[in-house]
Amino acid sequence: MTRHSASQQEQQLRQLLDQAEQLRLSGNYRQGSTLAGQVAEQAKALNLPLLEAQARQLLAAQLIRLGQYQTAVTSFSQAITLWSHCHVEDRLAETLTQQAFAYMELGLYEEAMQGLAQSMEIARRLDDPYLLFWAQNRIGIVHEQLGNFDKSIAFLLRALSLSERLGAEERFCILNNLASTSATHARYLWNEHQQDSELFTDVVNQGLVHARRALQLAQEANHPYRQAISLANYAMLGVFNGDLTHARMLLDQSTALAAQHGYQALVHDAEVIQARAHLYSGDTALAVAHFEQLLPALIEHAERPVLLNIYREISEAYESMQQPLKALEYYKYYHQLEREQRSVIANTRAQFMTDMTELSEIRLNAERAHLEAELERLRMQESEAEKQALLRTIDELARQANEDELTGLKNRRFANHHLRQRLQQLQSEPDAACLALLDLDWFKQINDQHGHPVGDQVLRQVAQTISRQLDEQSLFARFGGEEFVLLTDLPLSAMQALCEQIRVSLHSQRFGSGREAIPVTLSIGVTDLRQDDTLFSVLERADKALYSAKASGRNQVASS
Ligand code: GH3
Ligand code: MG
Ligand code: MG
Repeated sequence: MTRHSASQQEQQLRQLLDQAEQLRLSGNYRQGSTLAGQVAEQAKALNLPLLEAQARQLLAAQLIRLGQYQTAVTSFSQAITLWSHCHVEDRLAETLTQQAFAYMELGLYEEAMQGLAQSMEIARRLDDPYLLFWAQNRIGIVHEQLGNFDKSIAFLLRALSLSERLGAEERFCILNNLASTSATHARYLWNEHQQDSELFTDVVNQGLVHARRALQLAQEANHPYRQAISLANYAMLGVFNGDLTHARMLLDQSTALAAQHGYQALVHDAEVIQARAHLYSGDTALAVAHFEQLLPALIEHAERPVLLNIYREISEAYESMQQPLKALEYYKYYHQLEREQRSVIANTRAQFMTDMTELSEIRLNAERAHLEAELERLRMQESEAEKQALLRTIDELARQANEDELTGLKNRRFANHHLRQRLQQLQSEPDAACLALLDLDWFKQINDQHGHPVGDQVLRQVAQTISRQLDEQSLFARFGGEEFVLLTDLPLSAMQALCEQIRVSLHSQRFGSGREAIPVTLSIGVTDLRQDDTLFSVLERADKALYSAKASGRNQVASS
């Protein structure tokens, strides 16, 4: 390909990306995200990392609007890797903050906070009030979700003072968030029976001040969405303030605006506040009737955390109405949904761990591409010595990418890659294959009693002891900390026997430098590879088996 045609292609991709941005601005997220995704793939193929990063970020931002939070997180991560590799710090900070929103919607608050802390640090270093504003604003919201109201308000107020230097949109956004956080805090205090406390009155009054200013800004901008949402927050605080007539009037206005412009989620929000207004003004029976009437629509449209709150509120309302059976029924719904939410979160975390391993590969590939370009330049210059040195660096990079430094075993990335290939093979030709996860027992205690360096030595010795018992065909890798993975072509019963042999060999040996003579045991979870397995499903099964080996006393092999 000539230089000319490459730059023409780049030009064309830029135009397509502009189109995708236009589609986003006009709210056409489905088409916009498809186009951005295509641009990202082509930019990757042409090795244009900046353009790829831009496209991935734009794709992710639209996936959020479509409610596809998991895919959005992954796409943001790809953009983050690229921005950081190319040292584009402001875009890096911006993307981290956007990604935190998706994490938050998924209930992954720790991950959200980590990203935001990093974003805030960059914003500080760059002394960029705009980036700092968005990071602090969002940290405040995550704290609200976690029920840390003091911290939430502290961050939101810092963002508020920054917003004075920014535009009207930022000012509205932060005031509205302050009002909304106050309303959540007031609701929390009410549920704790603290509605007569001084704190409750303060929270409501402060919230009302923010809500009034937010509404005023929304009206000045004549922005229907902002008006509808700030009317609803204002109304909720009005209910807590005992001003019911005024609150109903505000809610009616909010509903009318939302319905008129097709903001369905806001219509539901207003309905929920109507029901809550009954509840908090003491008309419990009416509130329950209202909630129950709303439920089918909420089950279909609302996010799980919203629904969780409502189930609990209905259950508590029935309890206060002395209807324990009904209260129990709703408590069960609440409980079931909470379990579901936890399992979704756990699965999402596991999935992300796999995705992230893939991502560091992107970075290494980019580095290799850079070195290969350098090599090409040297080829032209005919400098043999430099060429050889560079070739060694490239080889070294490839080795590092697949090897664990401490034990010299293959690492998790390599193991995942290998396992994925094995699964693919299995689809075309059915064959025996098994996987085991091996986790040292009470390893933390070994570190605590003998020190970390001895812990490291034990890990190396354990790796050697096990490696010696394996043939060339088996893959034995360090999967993480004190956890290893073993992949063989054995049928299940033979694999169980092998694992048992490994377990006994460790048990009968002592580790450390000799002076310590440390006994070490391990627990092993075994499973066979099945034709319809994915990387995730195999690892999940092996992990379950490992967990049950741990739970039934450790130093044993379990299968599933
Ligand atoms: P369990 O039987 O439940 O597996 O107990 P455990 O103590 O092994 O499990 P836990 O996961 O709580 O702790 C694992 C410990 O392994 C924690 C960490 O300090 C240690 N560890 C992880 N990686 C390394 C490493 O590279 N070197 C050393 N020395 N220790 C490590
Ligand atoms: Mg362990
Ligand atoms: Mg472990």
